[in-house]
Amino acid sequence: MPQLSTGDLLRAAASAETPLGREADVFMRAGQLVPDELVLRILKARLEESDARNGFILDGYPRTVDQAKALAEMVAIDAVIAFEIPESELVERLTQRRACPRCGTIYNLKTQPPKVRGRCDREGAELIQRPDDAVEAVKTRLAVFHEKTTPLIDFYRKRGLLRPVDATGTPGTVTRRILDALGARPA
Ligand code: AMP
Repeated sequence: MPQLSTGDLLRAAASAETPLGREADVFMRAGQLVPDELVLRILKARLEESDARNGFILDGYPRTVDQAKALAEMVAIDAVIAFEIPESELVERLTQRRACPRCGTIYNLKTQPPKVRGRCDREGAELIQRPDDAVEAVKTRLAVFHEKTTPLIDFYRKRGLLRPVDATGTPGTVTRRILDALGARPA
């Protein structure tokens, strides 16, 4: 199943400098949510691609109750994973995150550092930090999350779709917890 990240779609539109991307970029840099109408437009177009026909994993959407309602009008969702993690650890993961501008590999300076400081293991390119992973933008993102996104926990709990997952630990451990929460077995 393809992983559809509205953040990735918006970042791609921003670097391609499409009109939508340019408009979205201002909000993203500040750590604010991009207006629902823009996000919905980019998501709808992606859902129409053929690889999404037999299912998909949404990453970063919905982030508001209005977005969840818009989603429910388009498709029926089977389950919603709510990652639970202490805020201090989340801040650490975000501010220590770096990415390769060429291949997109993600590193964490503390937990998954590159072999050569500041350089991608595969490409040798200089790693970059997402502008919204800077401390100030992270603070804004968390405040926005508490205000606009946490109401979704109740929204989906009431509909019997919520699957809380402990997101502390390594990616492998968290993956196993997700599969357990979904009643799925690794292949
Ligand atoms: P992410 O890569 O999911 O952390 O998203 C990065 C940024 O893209 C967010 O901080 C928002 O500015 C924007 N964004 C991504 N998904 C959404 C969404 N569902 N609604 C509004 N803004 C979004």
